[in-house]
Amino acid sequence: MSVRAQHHSATVVRREQLSDHFVRVVLDVPSFVSTGVPDEWVGLIVPGQFQSRYYTVRQHVGSELTLDIAVHEVGLVTEWAQADLTGGSTIVGQTVTITDPKGSFELPEGAAWLLLVGDLTALPAMARISETHPDLPTRVWAEVPDQLSGYLPDDDRHQVTWMPGHGDHLAELVEGIEWPEGDGYFWMAGESAQMRAIRKHLMRERKVPTAAYDVMGYWRVSAGRQPRAVDPGPIYRDGKARGLSDEQIWANYDAAQQHHDGHEAGRG
Ligand SMILES: Cc1cc2nc3c(=O)[nH]c(=O)nc-3n(C[C@H](O)[C@H](O)[C@H](O)COP(=O)(O)OP(=O)(O)OC[C@H]3O[C@@H](n4cnc5c(N)ncnc54)[C@H](O)[C@@H]3O)c2cc1C
Repeated sequence: MSVRAQHHSATVVRREQLSDHFVRVVLDVPSFVSTGVPDEWVGLIVPGQFQSRYYTVRQHVGSELTLDIAVHEVGLVTEWAQADLTGGSTIVGQTVTITDPKGSFELPEGAAWLLLVGDLTALPAMARISETHPDLPTRVWAEVPDQLSGYLPDDDRHQVTWMPGHGDHLAELVEGIEWPEGDGYFWMAGESAQMRAIRKHLMRERKVPTAAYDVMGYWRVSAGRQPRAVDPGPIYRDGKARGLSDEQIWANYDAAQQHHDGHEAGRG
């Protein structure tokens, strides 16, 4: 039996270049129901792929869902989101798949302040968290490669520090943060190895109770695109050419992968 998360079919209705490394993609997804958790994310599967990548729901209004995508050197979604720029066909009008949303942000009762820290991939969540809590005193640190000053609320309640870069200095920054008095909540996301170091720092040095922070690894440094044991591209194209439904194509992919795993186990 399939234990996959619920999939929704979505149509790309708009693509907007927010800055050199940041692309907004607006999807029409009539079946989507938000969790309301401000850092909620979905898995995004772009055409011709089976693997998903996670993206934060920046906004959900009516049936329109906005994802803001950081584009870097090489990557499955990175390349898709830039198709319009590289001479490929436009992504507007394409059908993609998204999975049901999940969220992690959990403000403890009585929290009197918020600290938010992150790189470009964390920016959509930091913006939505800030908007969801307009009255909570909030300090934000964002280390991003582009000029995006209008992207986050910056007012009496929200104080934002922008730093140029790719998030490499966030661990150092967190070690130097002056923690506000009283109870609050610390939320952070960025490169996974750095996030592990920060969790240790919060636990061991600052002794912050677990319920008072959420530190999420959003991406991993690795060399190039991850190799896949079974290449989904040909299976997908073959399935489409034969008029199979996505569910049937998934089933074929699972079967191919099980076949492969069986061979590997046989070898071991
Ligand atoms: C819960 C959650 C929410 C997320 N929300 C967002 C979001 O709203 N917006 C967003 O842009 N990202 C978000 N991410 C991060 C995003 O899923 C990853 O960056 C993802 O790997 C990008 O996929 P890709 O296909 O472009 O690159 P991949 O094919 O996954 O990776 C290709 C290569 O690029 C490297 N790489 C991957 N991501 C980055 C990066 N950000 N910077 C530099 N190198 C990288 C990898 O190490 C690999 O070598 C979120 C992740 C999680 C877990």
